[in-house]
Amino acid sequence: MVKQATAGVIESPQYEVIIIGAGVAGIYQLYRLRERGVNATVVEAAADLGGTWFNNRYPGCRFDSESYTYGFSFSKELLNEWHWKERFSGQPENLRYLNHVATKFDLRRHMQFNAKVESATFDETYDLWRLHLADGRDLTGRFLITGLGLLSAPTLPRIAGMESFKGPSFHTYYWPHEPLDLKGKKVAVIGTGATGVQVIGEIADKVAELTVFQRRPNWCAPLNNGPILDEEMAAIRARYDEIFETCLRTPGGFEHEPDRRGFYEVSAEERKALWDRLYAEPGFGIWLCNFREIFTDEVANAEFSEYIAGRIRARVNDPVLAEKLIPKDHGFGIQRVPLETRYYEAYNRDNVHLVDIQETPIERITPTGIRTSQRDFEFDIIVYATGFDAITGSFDRIDFRGVGGQRLRDKWADGPSTFLGMQVNGFPNFITVAGPQSGSASTNFPRGIEVGVDWVMSLFDYTWKHGYTRMEATPEAETRWTNHVAKMYSTMLMRKAKGWFTGYNSNVAGHEHGKVRYFVYNGGAPKFRATITQVAAENFKGIEFRKLGETAPSQETDLEPALGLARQQA
Ligand code: NAP
Repeated sequence: MVKQATAGVIESPQYEVIIIGAGVAGIYQLYRLRERGVNATVVEAAADLGGTWFNNRYPGCRFDSESYTYGFSFSKELLNEWHWKERFSGQPENLRYLNHVATKFDLRRHMQFNAKVESATFDETYDLWRLHLADGRDLTGRFLITGLGLLSAPTLPRIAGMESFKGPSFHTYYWPHEPLDLKGKKVAVIGTGATGVQVIGEIADKVAELTVFQRRPNWCAPLNNGPILDEEMAAIRARYDEIFETCLRTPGGFEHEPDRRGFYEVSAEERKALWDRLYAEPGFGIWLCNFREIFTDEVANAEFSEYIAGRIRARVNDPVLAEKLIPKDHGFGIQRVPLETRYYEAYNRDNVHLVDIQETPIERITPTGIRTSQRDFEFDIIVYATGFDAITGSFDRIDFRGVGGQRLRDKWADGPSTFLGMQVNGFPNFITVAGPQSGSASTNFPRGIEVGVDWVMSLFDYTWKHGYTRMEATPEAETRWTNHVAKMYSTMLMRKAKGWFTGYNSNVAGHEHGKVRYFVYNGGAPKFRATITQVAAENFKGIEFRKLGETAPSQETDLEPALGLARQQA
C-alpha cells in the first residue's frame, strides 16, 4: 500500500541529516557524516561551537576526566599534534581544542550558529522532520539527531525578589563571557555541587568576602591536577592505543578500573591502604577504582564514607564547620562526586563563610543581597550554582512532535523511555545519540559519544543500503530497554539519592518530590557496547524500517536475543 502524497509530488528534505547541537557529540557526528559526503548540517543555539565548553565560563571550570581520555580518539594525526597542558584541562583550552578539531576537519562551514530550534515535527507523509527556528526560518531533514547535552538546561532557584538585586547575578552557565572583576567584591555562591565546588575553590582567595549558601553538602574528593610537560605528553602519545583500549574496557570509560577484590575479602587495614593511595591520586580513582560494594552495600558504603569524613575533618580547622560539610543524608559516591581543588581549605580562610540554609533558610533576594531567616547579607555579586534540569531538560525546551502530533515532553513527563537510549517509539527518524538511558550518559562523555555515533553510522549504512526512509523503535523494544534500565537502579544505592542521577530537581515543578526517573544506564560501557553491537549484528532488531509510502514495516523485529546477550554478560 502506497500513501498518496499531494498530487503525486514527493517533497525532498533540504538535508539528509540535521544535528541539533555543536558540542562534542554534534562535532563528532558531523565529522562522521561529512566523511561519507552526507548532506548534513548542525544547528546550534549559541553563537559558536563547543556546547558545554562554550557556555560554561565560570572560574575553575575544567575537566574532571583526564584530558587525554577526553579528547577524540578517531584521528592519529589529531592525537599526535595536540598537547594537553594539564592533566585536567581548563575550559579555555577545552574550547580551543574543539575549535581546532572543527577547523582541522573543515566542519565549521556545515554549522549554523544562533540557530535556536523552537519546534521539530515529524511529517509522516514525506518521512522527514520540519524544524522551526527562533529566527523564523524553517528547515527540513530526513533524519534528526540530537546532541543537546545532558547538562545544558540550567535551572535557577525559585526565590522571591531575584529580579530586584542591583548587582550582577547569574547562573554559572551564564557566567559573563567578558572579564568580571572579582577583586575587592563580596560574592555569594548558592549551591555546592560539582560546579559550586569548582567556583568556590578557585575564587576564595580572589574576592574580598565569599559566602557560600549550602543546602546539602556533597562528598567531594581531591582532583590532584598538575601540568603535563613535553616529556609526559610524548609518553601519553606513545600509549594512546592502550589508553583508549582501557577506556573501552572499564565501566566508566576512564582509565580507572574497579578493584576486583571483594570488600569483605580484604582486611580493614588493606581497605584503608587502598583508600589512602586513591585519595592521593589524580581524578576519579577514589570513586571508580574502589570496591564495587561501595555502590550497592550500605555497610561497605558507610565504612568508606566515614573514611572520607575523616579526611574532611582533617582538612577543615573548625570542627563545627567540618561537620556541616560532611553529608549525613547519603553516602559517598551515590551522587555524582565533585572533584575539588583547595575546596575544604577555602573554609579555613577568614574571608570565606558558610551559611547552612537548612538551619537558616533564604527568605528572599533583596536589592543589596540575601535575607535568611537569621539576618541580611550584603553582596556585590550573586552566583547561582544551582545545577540543571538534567538529561531531559534540554529536550523539554524544544517542542518535539512525533507521530500523530505526540509531544516528546508529554511522553517523557515521568521520565524518559527509549530503545538503547538512542531511539524513541512514536518519533521516527529521531536519534538521541548519547541520549537519556544510553551507556554514554553514565560514562566519560566523549568515550560514550564516539561509541554512540559509530553505531548510528552503522544504522545509517543499513538504512541507506536498503533504501529506507523511515526508522522507528518498536513499542516492545522500548519497553524492554526502559525496564532493563530501571531494573539496574534497583541494585544501586544511587536510587535513594536526591541528585540528578535519579531525576531530582527542587527547582522544576513536578520533579522536586524525588520520584525516580530512570536517566542513566548503569550496566557499564562494555555491556552497553556489546548490546548495541549485537542489535546491529541482528539487522537492528527492535527497529522497524520502511520505504517512503509503505504503511507497514519492511522487517520483522524481535529484541529478545539482543537483550538476552546483555543479560548473559551482566
Ligand atoms: P548539581 O550537582 O545539581 O548541584 C546543584 C547545587 O545547587 C546543589 O548543591 C543543590 O543543593 C543546590 N541547589 C539547587 N537548587 C537550590 C535551591 N533552590 N536553593 C539552594 N540550593 C540549591 O549541579 P552542578 O554543580 O552544576 O553539577 C551538575 C553536573 O554537571 C555534575 O554532577 C557533573 O556531572 C557536571 N559537572 C561537571 C564538571 C566537571 O568537572 N567536568 C564540573 C561541573 C559540573 P541540593 O544538593 O540540596 O539539591
